[in-house]
Amino acid sequence: MKPFGYERPVDLAAAVTLLAERPDARVLAGGTNLVDLMRLGVERPGLLIDVNRLGMDGIEPMAGGGIRIGAGVRNSDLAGDIGVRTAFPLLAEAVLAGASGQLRNMASVGGNLLQRTRCLYFADTSKPCNKREPGSGCSALAGSSRELAVLGASESCIATFPGDMAVALSALGARVEFQTERGEHVVDIDDFYRDPGDHPELDTTLPPGAIITAVHVPGLPVSARSTYRKARDRRSFAFGLVTVAAALEVDDGIVQGVRLALGGVAHRPWRARRAEAELVGRPVAVAAIERAIDAELSEARPTPENAFKVPLVRRLVTGTLLRLAAEDGR
Ligand SMILES: Cc1cc2nc3c(=O)[nH]c(=O)nc-3n(C[C@H](O)[C@H](O)[C@H](O)COP(=O)(O)OP(=O)(O)OC[C@H]3O[C@@H](n4cnc5c(N)ncnc54)[C@H](O)[C@@H]3O)c2cc1C
Repeated sequence: MKPFGYERPVDLAAAVTLLAERPDARVLAGGTNLVDLMRLGVERPGLLIDVNRLGMDGIEPMAGGGIRIGAGVRNSDLAGDIGVRTAFPLLAEAVLAGASGQLRNMASVGGNLLQRTRCLYFADTSKPCNKREPGSGCSALAGSSRELAVLGASESCIATFPGDMAVALSALGARVEFQTERGEHVVDIDDFYRDPGDHPELDTTLPPGAIITAVHVPGLPVSARSTYRKARDRRSFAFGLVTVAAALEVDDGIVQGVRLALGGVAHRPWRARRAEAELVGRPVAVAAIERAIDAELSEARPTPENAFKVPLVRRLVTGTLLRLAAEDGR
């Protein structure tokens, strides 16, 4: 491993200044992703800036029933928060579906948003990968692609975003708050993540030198009846092959409101807006749900190895929405 420095700034302003001065620095939160990547030689920072003692670890109410979740909140604390579990069950379920108890105790909200892809070639420094080394090529295109993207991919990259929490946050229309030397900024989560296009090395639109400070989750009545489901190779401690975050409001068998986001299918958490638009005003029935999902998947471009994801999305979304509709609320 390349030698690196370590600093623990006393406050956010000092952390932002230090990060601006040192383009070779990386922010260190729980370290559960960054340190692994340093061991593999994928990340080679000259300096780690520890943001664990900047007081970003609260969950506070916001106007309108929303919450502001500090970037330093540990995944375990988020999933265990009674307010989150009650008002946003899909968020608590998504966090609990990720990693293991030990990892969730370390992993932070900010780090979870910025975790890197689990594409095999990204982690293997002996193989070309446009995400790790722009311009080197994409080994996955003709290689192992079972876990990789079916939507929104490009000729440069078919990697997927691997996280669970951000999929729930996408369904909830959350916003990401961050700080740069120019002050505080807030961006919609759908504008935070990006498709790979010609620049797969960029996972997000977060500018260089930015520190994520919080996530804002708006209060939505539809969120109370919501859930997260994850199809994976093992029941625990495995990344999702396909995941779905769903919230549903039904009156007299007709969909009044729906929020739907997919994980494991694209370079970003995939907010299924086409499907949402198709579902509103329609009965909660298999045929209507499948039609809506087919609209969402009309531009899916699977590889031979991951073509199974297309029917898997259909089944997972259909089962999830039918189950939500059958509930009386929680
Ligand atoms: C074996 C294993 C299994 C896992 N399974 C799952 C799973 O099923 N689902 C899932 O969602 N995740 C899973 N994970 C990933 C895990 O959730 C992430 O590693 C974790 O959430 C990252 O958080 P962290 O605080 O440790 O981030 P770090 O490793 O500290 O940082 C990750 C990245 O975020 C940046 N960063 C961190 N905080 C900030 C900030 N405030 N501002 C700006 N940049 C920041 C860092 O510079 C780094 O680039 C798994 C991890 C492992 C090791």
